[in-house]
Amino acid sequence: ATPTAITVGIGRGAELGILIKDSKVFDVSENLKCMIFDKTGTITKGKPEVDEIVSKMPVNDLLMIAGSMEKDSEHPIGRAIVKRAQELNISFKNPKEFEVISGMGLKGTVDEKTVVIGNPSLIELNDIKIDEYYLKNISRLQENAKTVVVLAIDNRVEGLIAISDQIKENARNTIDELRELGIESYMITGDNEKTAKVIGKSVGISEKNIYSDVLPEKKAEIVKKIKESVEGYVEFIGDGINDAPALSTADVGIAVGSGTDIAIESGDVVLMKDDLKYVTGFVKLSKRVLKQIK
Ligand code: ADP
Ligand code: MG
Repeated sequence: ATPTAITVGIGRGAELGILIKDSKVFDVSENLKCMIFDKTGTITKGKPEVDEIVSKMPVNDLLMIAGSMEKDSEHPIGRAIVKRAQELNISFKNPKEFEVISGMGLKGTVDEKTVVIGNPSLIELNDIKIDEYYLKNISRLQENAKTVVVLAIDNRVEGLIAISDQIKENARNTIDELRELGIESYMITGDNEKTAKVIGKSVGISEKNIYSDVLPEKKAEIVKKIKESVEGYVEFIGDGINDAPALSTADVGIAVGSGTDIAIESGDVVLMKDDLKYVTGFVKLSKRVLKQIK
């Protein structure tokens, strides 16, 4: 691209709230083959809510323990649990021996009881058995696109908290439009396989392109693997929670609006508005720059 076309392109982007920080994005757009999406906060709104609790315990007791564990959590799932507990005026206690297991959940002690709260893998990792009743409910909820948080007290599963996060309005359209531009979409998430597949399917990402149960530090490795498997360039789009390394590993990293400061720093492009239509807007604009605009 000529310097003039680049300047015009950056200017047009800025008018739309597409901040282009590195002019390599124009060269990448010519042979762009893959768009890798983060799930939470990128394909989904990232504002999860508690919508079902499965337990034989009184709901208030369960939420007192879960909320006490999550009360200082910065994770959107933790915040959703705390919010529900607060709506019921439940007061929290201070957990002891508190530990965060990144991309999985939390461990600690509340009222002298050992508590493990997190995804089913974390429960299994702690050698806690999930019985038939809870396993069936986990499957049912995950097939309905919900993320299931399991609560275990003194090494026994005592309840499930189902969390749902809405898919963004333009997700499906954006992925369809990218396909028309010859760009295949992928999804990487720390969430479980079933939930990831249901969400992937509803936005039109093929099952083979979905990577689930990915721990935060592994996201960049998968981006690298995809990069090596295609002839052409790969872009990653994320909101920055757990995905700054992935943003910088891709040929181009796109940080989405309302993203964290880290994402904005790691991204080569920042989409100021939290609307996925600007993803195709950006791709089309960068291709036009190569054709010297218009
Ligand atoms: P994503 O890639 O979808 O943003 P994360 O890597 O942040 O997801 O987390 C992966 C999974 O770990 C979540 O779907 C959830 O099941 C579990 N998890 C993470 N943090 C917590 C927490 N504070 N409380 C309960 N579960 C959690
Ligand atoms: Mg995320």
